[in-house]
Amino acid sequence: MASHINTDNQDASLASSANLSADLGHLGIAPDELQQTLKLAGLLQTSLELETVLRFFLDAAAERVEFDGARFEYPPLETELDFGSRRAHTCAYRLKLAGEYLGELVFSRRTRFQEAELQTIENLLSQLIYPLRNAIWYQRALRSAQIDPLTGINNRTAMNNMLAREVDLAHRNHTPLSLIVADIDHFKHINDQFGHAVGDEVLRQFCQTISDNLRGSDIVFRYGGEEFVILLTGTNREDAALVAERIRGAIEHATFDCEEVRLKLTASFGAASLGPGETPEDLFRKADSALYRAKEAGRNCVVSHQPELRIQEANG
Ligand code: GH3
Ligand code: MG
Ligand code: MG
Repeated sequence: MASHINTDNQDASLASSANLSADLGHLGIAPDELQQTLKLAGLLQTSLELETVLRFFLDAAAERVEFDGARFEYPPLETELDFGSRRAHTCAYRLKLAGEYLGELVFSRRTRFQEAELQTIENLLSQLIYPLRNAIWYQRALRSAQIDPLTGINNRTAMNNMLAREVDLAHRNHTPLSLIVADIDHFKHINDQFGHAVGDEVLRQFCQTISDNLRGSDIVFRYGGEEFVILLTGTNREDAALVAERIRGAIEHATFDCEEVRLKLTASFGAASLGPGETPEDLFRKADSALYRAKEAGRNCVVSHQPELRIQEANG
């Protein structure tokens, strides 16, 4: 069973209890439910996390309507959240507010949903729709603050966040973690010779070439200017050097078509792996110093940071 709601015309005045009471009357909610509804409205405003907002909402809904599971999907943010267990009978709602799509919410259980229950769910959804929109807007703002507008890939802020998390995970799970820093060779000449618009297009195609040569679990970031960082989870030093070498070769053999010009270019790479007890900054510093050595060695090459040999002196 499926049913749909379009909350385009919902009243936004949930802040005042007089208005809320009027809304509830209009929606056919009994006065003794007012306390419960007010509580939910207040609770939903305490978080901008999508999962938390939905969990509060579903906990409250479960007190009024029986269901075994619920699933929320919002493809623009690749959000898919499952609560409880999925069953055969469903009721699905496509959520919208003032024409803005806010995702799909599907309730499921073993038996068919009755008309009165659907009405209750729809009444409850009117409480969810504004907090849900706020949470979606907030998540979108967070997301766009981590995207580089020129290339559309993750920026330095995203890298700092993700690197901190991956370093933490790698230490905890004793898994390898590697990082590559890539820098286009003599990029300034490209700007000087062909102009900034061509330079910008080269940057876009450069990061596309990197992405084409990575596994799905590897992540590329624009660190700044013409410098890119690739984070390789579950990858040791030797394999990271091979990945860097593969990208270096792909760049060297690629042709960059920008406006009227066809360009060839090269890039230099520094690779490093996380050592015991090292911080995200330590790992980045190692890869960056390897990149510096690649530039010094004549560019268009990969330098892998060598772990220091620890020589233990025998006592006595
Ligand atoms: P090297 O081989 O030593 O790396 O030399 P390089 O010329 O690549 O490095 P340098 O640091 O001297 O110059 C980097 C240039 O990148 C200078 C800067 O104007 C250009 N640049 C940085 N960000 C952008 C951008 O967003 N668009 C364009 N078109 N150019 C940029
Ligand atoms: Mg450069
Ligand atoms: Mg540079």
